[in-house]
Amino acid sequence: MIMAEKKLNVLFIASEAAPFVKVGGLGDVAGSLPYAIAALPEGPDIRMAIPLHKAIDQTKYTLETVTSFDIAHKNGPITAEVFQTELNGLTIYLISGEPVAEADLVYTADTRADGKKFTFFSLAVLELCKQLDWQPDILHAQDWHTAPAVYALKTILKDDPFFAHTATLLTVHNLPYLGNGAGPALKAFGLKPAKKSNLPKWAQDMPLPLGLLTADKINTVSTGYAQEMLTPEFGSGLQKFLKTRKKDLVGIINGLDMDAWNPASDKAISANFTSDTLQDRGKNKRALQKELELPQDTDAPLLAFIGRMDHQKGIEIALEALRKVSDLSWQAIILGTGDPDIEARAEALAEEFPQNIRTIIRFDGALARRIYAGSDMMMVPSRYEPCGLIQMIAMRYGSVPVARATGGLRDTITDYKEKGKSTGFLFKKAKPRAMAKALRRALAVFPDRQEWEQIQIRDMAQDFTWQNSAVQYLDIYLSLLKSE
Ligand code: ADP
Repeated sequence: MIMAEKKLNVLFIASEAAPFVKVGGLGDVAGSLPYAIAALPEGPDIRMAIPLHKAIDQTKYTLETVTSFDIAHKNGPITAEVFQTELNGLTIYLISGEPVAEADLVYTADTRADGKKFTFFSLAVLELCKQLDWQPDILHAQDWHTAPAVYALKTILKDDPFFAHTATLLTVHNLPYLGNGAGPALKAFGLKPAKKSNLPKWAQDMPLPLGLLTADKINTVSTGYAQEMLTPEFGSGLQKFLKTRKKDLVGIINGLDMDAWNPASDKAISANFTSDTLQDRGKNKRALQKELELPQDTDAPLLAFIGRMDHQKGIEIALEALRKVSDLSWQAIILGTGDPDIEARAEALAEEFPQNIRTIIRFDGALARRIYAGSDMMMVPSRYEPCGLIQMIAMRYGSVPVARATGGLRDTITDYKEKGKSTGFLFKKAKPRAMAKALRRALAVFPDRQEWEQIQIRDMAQDFTWQNSAVQYLDIYLSLLKSE
């Protein structure tokens, strides 16, 4: 039993965390949620572990060596080396070892190699707890990469007294990334498929399904997506299985690090502003137009897209929608990297409309900030969106979202129909025609400066702080202890 006066021990594990390494929204979440949980009045002793990816600039942090040990593998033991650093009061463990050190990228197309790296990492964090003699009350894993740790606790480590009181929470940030292809890597580390489970046969050796099968509690990052996950359209083939876990599945919306994303103090933008000084925002628009050699026209609505260029994000829907509204006057900036075919299509559209479209194929955090601050509208045409941070960041910076009504987007944006409350423009179908209609609605309102400013002011006034969500996570941690 946990004594009331004992601080709760929570180990938060993730494949990426800002500012160390960030590929997408998971990096933002892991870089802010644990701090928000630690800051709660009854905050636990929460510590984080991430792999020491090559992309992490080790010169920026003081890394102390903690320990090293071996992880069993069918081809012989693999040594894990653990380093430790402190950031804003949080202890962070960075784990290295051959499968981590030899990978150039955080995620690759080689699921076998990724499977080996993340399974190694998942097992190493558990062994680390033993080496530190630090018993986690809660293991909080994110996505498929760290799901093997959840599965290991319920299989190869289920009789280990050290973990007898460790409960598990698995957060799903992106359901379709199941870890397909990582099965052999799991097996090589001794994690066998769950053959006699009610997982569909094809999913019985995949990390995320195995985590979903064995986690004490599951959550995803919006209430809307928690419901959508149970449907054939969004369930990635697991909807029937997920229904069997419905009572242990909840949605908790992500927050935003309101200090890291603040137009009043952002050093990467030309002019800082608040909702009281929206006139200063225009300087960012002009600077952005200049930087990207777009006509310096303040009246031309400036549309933007920022994000990973993959099927999920629906950028092709936006490309076609832009074509459909090409009779109207606007400018557009597209920033992203990902699938080469999609990148090529985005570049082709910019070539077709050299007067008013710019496509930039790279990951550029500072440019992204200048776009949030200078664009008038943010296009978010996702096919599915567990939460989505881009629309929240955009709203915080007064860029009005034109977004698909799905998952977290629907939960965080109120459509223009709801006069006096609206924060953006939503469309239902993941089709260019539906998006073009929403763009037309937005473009029709834009010239009414007063009306547009009212939307911006509402956007910027929204409370996206982590506080509420952090309380909900702590509640789950505590509920898991009570049910011991
Ligand atoms: P996801 O996690 O699915 O990629 P989110 O909307 O949750 O999407 O978060 C995306 C994060 O990554 C945001 O912080 C966004 O600004 C950032 N981002 C995505 N693509 C780029 C890019 N090409 N350059 C800079 N930042 C980017």
